[in-house]
Amino acid sequence: MQDLYSQSLADLEQYCTRLAVSTVHAKTLYRRLFKDFDTTPWTTPGLPHGLAEQMPHDMRCTTASIAEESQSRYDGTVKFLVRMEDGSLVESVLMPEKKRITLCLSSQVGCAMACTFCHTGRMGLKRNLTAGEIAAQVVLAQRWIRDHAAWREERGYPGFAAISNIVFMGMGEPLDNIDEVSQALRILSDPMGLNLSLRKISVSTAGHLDGLKILLERFPKVSLALSLHATTERERSQLMPINRRWPIGTILDYLRNFYQQRDDDACLLVQYTVIRGVNDTLDHADRMVELLRGVPVKLNLIPLNEVEPSRFQSPEPESLQRFRDHLNAAGVRVMIRYSKGQDIAAACGQLVVSAEKRRLSPSAEAVTIS
Ligand code: SF4
Repeated sequence: MQDLYSQSLADLEQYCTRLAVSTVHAKTLYRRLFKDFDTTPWTTPGLPHGLAEQMPHDMRCTTASIAEESQSRYDGTVKFLVRMEDGSLVESVLMPEKKRITLCLSSQVGCAMACTFCHTGRMGLKRNLTAGEIAAQVVLAQRWIRDHAAWREERGYPGFAAISNIVFMGMGEPLDNIDEVSQALRILSDPMGLNLSLRKISVSTAGHLDGLKILLERFPKVSLALSLHATTERERSQLMPINRRWPIGTILDYLRNFYQQRDDDACLLVQYTVIRGVNDTLDHADRMVELLRGVPVKLNLIPLNEVEPSRFQSPEPESLQRFRDHLNAAGVRVMIRYSKGQDIAAACGQLVVSAEKRRLSPSAEAVTIS
């Protein structure tokens, strides 16, 4: 039995061909599935008998469900704890803004990258999500918006409101699961389905070079976000073990070349979590300017969200502003981004499922960067 949410439109067209029915029916099925959220699209009136009869024997939708939801009192952010069919739990976060609604998705259960400041990293990797489980997070969130008129009204979308942007910044390193994430991108961006433009989908990476090469070859138009967090190889390797395998210099050389060959105004979104006393001095700012030279970037400074258990602290507001101003003066397009949903632990680096959170204890090893 195959998962319908894991099928691209091309897959369903091939399925129709195998059943000797017109591929035009694949479009109908896709619309029913992703626009009407019908989990039994073979019941649509007018489908050929052979297709309607056979399909429920071959395919069904994975039964992901919202196990828990929590809503921020301050900014309307909603965090969903999503239970997959095998009981695995992941989190996705809905973030309403004036002109867009962004959904932050998980791509893995846990994460193998073990970044020292990140709670999800402490879970380790349990397993990859399938493309269908990634798409199901979008379907669940979109259905939730449809069914919550009060939330829509409060946020200024009285009628229908659709998710307009996707960020792969939830649990997991998306490029460590490149084949399923690629299939999810095909599904999410299909005009017959969820119809999200690739430019409005951001795939974030901690610096997985093998996955990055595959992603940009398959989807050169997708938006890319790089988690930087440090400005020397040594410091970055201490914070982000992935840097020992793929040094940031190598990643940025690759990206410099990639963006130089483009003839549009695409740029790299760089995320830099600012941690007090670790990476927030003006020397760090100067090194960052050098490191990013020649790469078109937009830089987001994200003050660390302090969550227990952690040895790291948020930066002092004045030092954060000084850091930002210094980068600005050097010509870097930079913004301070305060994470949304902080009161519900939905902010960057806080995504770890509740059961795991209880298991975690403060790291025995302090990370000292000198
Ligand atoms: S910051 Fe991202 S890549 Fe690093 S451990 Fe956390 S989820 Fe994984």
